[in-house]
Amino acid sequence: MAVAGPLAGWAASPLTPLPPPEDRQLARDMLRELVEINTTHAYGSTQAAKVIEGWLLRAGFVPGDVDLLAPADHPTKGNVVVRYRGRHRGDPVLFLGHLDVVEAKPEDWSVDPFKLTEMDGWFYGRGTIDMKDGDAALVESLIRLKREKYVPDRDIVVAFTADEEAGGDANGPAYLLQEHRALIDAAFAVNLDGGGGNTRNGARQFFEVGTSEKTYVTFTLQTTSPGGHGSLPGPDNAIYRLAAGLGRLETFKFPVMLTSTTRAAFAALGALETGTAAADMQAVAQSPPDAAAAARLSTNVRLNAQLRTTCVATLISGGHAENALPQRARATIQCRLLPGDSAANVQAQLVAVLADPAIGVTLDAPPIVSPESPPTPQFMKKVALLAHSMWPGVPIIPTMATGFSDDRHTRNAGIPSYDISGVWQDVDENRAHGRDERVGVQAFDESVEFTYRLMKAMSGAK
Ligand SMILES: [Zn+2]
Repeated sequence: MAVAGPLAGWAASPLTPLPPPEDRQLARDMLRELVEINTTHAYGSTQAAKVIEGWLLRAGFVPGDVDLLAPADHPTKGNVVVRYRGRHRGDPVLFLGHLDVVEAKPEDWSVDPFKLTEMDGWFYGRGTIDMKDGDAALVESLIRLKREKYVPDRDIVVAFTADEEAGGDANGPAYLLQEHRALIDAAFAVNLDGGGGNTRNGARQFFEVGTSEKTYVTFTLQTTSPGGHGSLPGPDNAIYRLAAGLGRLETFKFPVMLTSTTRAAFAALGALETGTAAADMQAVAQSPPDAAAAARLSTNVRLNAQLRTTCVATLISGGHAENALPQRARATIQCRLLPGDSAANVQAQLVAVLADPAIGVTLDAPPIVSPESPPTPQFMKKVALLAHSMWPGVPIIPTMATGFSDDRHTRNAGIPSYDISGVWQDVDENRAHGRDERVGVQAFDESVEFTYRLMKAMSGAK
């Protein structure tokens, strides 16, 4: 969640625990090797999955506990699933990391995106923050735990997966849930593709735990009219009817609705803010939320998206000839639903707001519903204890993502899923998917130690 103003900070401490030197080096070597395997959609993830499989087998994992799996019709979209066996006191915990990366054109970058370049305290390369850093931390931690002969209470299952990024057509978690559910079934999941630490001007601000995301739903609006010669316009015009409806939609706002996550987030962020923003965030966290405070916060598009379901026109088309009256007009309405809201409810509200029975409203595809994974006090306390063992005193804040991730597949399948990355980065750093993607060297090393501790903490029975 974005915040509106400056916050008090925590100075980075030189005492932050790091992995032992051999593990630190191994994780860096793994990050390098993974970044240097191109896993954009054109290449796929199977080669990276095979490399991880090799590391695990050489570290003593037995072949029956390491599975390389790809859909029959997408052999390059490989996933690797590993099981670290425990005492079976409780169902497994599933860790998720995607292997694919967004396209990167070398001519757009100042360094080669498919080489790991260390420069001025940063590792540069495609996937350094999204999320080969997390993949390297996961596989290195498994190997470290194995070497230390750690025995978890629950099995630890880690799935390194294909096609998370937009444009992929063989999503790993969706395929594994569909075809190999028993392999990855779990009491809950921890995805390293979100959450994590936020810094501002080098100071630690707060640590996010992703508990939920909005549901992606698209509707098509359509109007029709008899048409005719462009020289003889009459009262029934498909374009005007649709445009008038869109005008009503433009000024409509869905009602303010807080989830247990966004309520806790506003309360916690409000405590870190100053001035009007602080008071408004605290007021909106009340039950019921303060309407005037919600209206002021809604002028910030990021906070608005936290407060309500949104729908917006993104595409429009209509008519068939310059000199003819239109017979048809269409608009695409892109909606992002709060957890708990439904496509049927939103469709009914759209029909009411458009207020014209001649505007047809149809759902493009059934949504992958993504319920909130509750930020229970017990779970949040566990994360806080763990995070504070690394970074004493940082506030821990549950968050709702406005975009979607692989969590929608596991949450939709009934596996509560939490985004917990151990990486700290600046709130204004926005290079994932863009040019010169990077992760801080210190931040990466810390995240490796955090991931090792996370695996231990989450594989305890209680
Ligand atoms: Zn990602």
